[in-house]
Amino acid sequence: MTHFLLGEPAEAVLDSLAEALDEMDIGIILLGRDMRVRFLNRHVSRMFDLPPALLTARPTFRDLLDQAGARSWFAVPAADLPMYLDQRETAVRAGSVPPTHIDFRDGRRVLFACSACPDGGRILSYADVSGELRPEALDAMEQINADLRFNNETMEDHAAHLASLAEATDENARKLSDAKQALEHEIVEHRQLEARWRRIATTDGLTGALNRVGFLTRGQAELERGPERGGGLALLMLDVDHFKSINDQYGHAGGDVALRHLVTMVRNQTRRGDLLGRLGGEEFAILLPAIAAEAAERLAERLLARIAATPVIWRDGLINLTVSIGLALATRADRSIEQVIARADDALYRAKEGGRNRVASTNRRRRFAAR
Ligand code: GH3
Ligand code: MG
Ligand code: MG
Repeated sequence: MTHFLLGEPAEAVLDSLAEALDEMDIGIILLGRDMRVRFLNRHVSRMFDLPPALLTARPTFRDLLDQAGARSWFAVPAADLPMYLDQRETAVRAGSVPPTHIDFRDGRRVLFACSACPDGGRILSYADVSGELRPEALDAMEQINADLRFNNETMEDHAAHLASLAEATDENARKLSDAKQALEHEIVEHRQLEARWRRIATTDGLTGALNRVGFLTRGQAELERGPERGGGLALLMLDVDHFKSINDQYGHAGGDVALRHLVTMVRNQTRRGDLLGRLGGEEFAILLPAIAAEAAERLAERLLARIAATPVIWRDGLINLTVSIGLALATRADRSIEQVIARADDALYRAKEGGRNRVASTNRRRRFAAR
């Protein structure tokens, strides 16, 4: 005997013991050798929610298992339940069972143990260990923690990377804007430069009139624009008379001044839209768009007279000069300005032949200015 009844009636001690067992938060079942329940405490009936009617009928351990199985307490698939219950019953029948875990469907975990009694019965105990952290849960939690830490660090890295990208994007946008501005500036400069070069390339350096290339280009455009603009197109070829002797008398510099003077005279007598080109040494062409034949002839005569009447001021003296003018009118048949120039040149040749200081025309009326 390992227990003592200290002078009290055994029944009184048993009652106190049963009451004490009811207060425990461990489930206790006492089975007889017939595997019927001799005692179970309140914790067991609560744990398996056993109906009082079942308990008064002196159930077997198997009855309790069936009851718990029917109420789906165990975390076992329905198909495996009969075998599971058989195994539990067999284990208890066989004798002592070392502590094993029983998992409940509601998540509780119970540590179950069975001890064989000398009288052939069994003492079963059920201790709820749900609150205790299981090793695998700890592992899982540690893993989750590690994952969270990793995610956090990764996200911080990503955030830093994104921030640096945004900064780089800002920087690039700034650079792009600067480059765009520089490019626009360069384009403007380039256009200005191009216009300047075009002007230089098409201008005669001495007199500021169009040079041969400039006159032919602009003249051709005017000729082609003729039909849509309407009105006639007249061309005067002008050549200084005896220019060699002017050079001889006043030097090359005097001749240059005379050429500039001539250009000023022509400019003063012509309209804004008229073109003046220096085609050769002292040979000029004047294109008069939208002009009638008579008006062109009048202009040629007036120009001739003004030039003859206005000497060039040169150093202490004056240089008198006259010019000869050939006049041609463009026709619908003309495809190039050079054709018109050629006819005006013919007329100029006739003006020279006719005695110089005069206008000759290719007009049908062939009106030569008599001087
Ligand atoms: P004509 O009345 O037949 O035209 O006689 P001309 O002496 O004018 O004869 P021509 O047209 O053959 O002579 C042109 C001269 O113009 C020859 C050349 O020395 C001179 N000359 C050509 N270009 C320039 C120039 O840029 N400056 C100066 N000062 N003289 C030039
Ligand atoms: Mg000449
Ligand atoms: Mg000449």
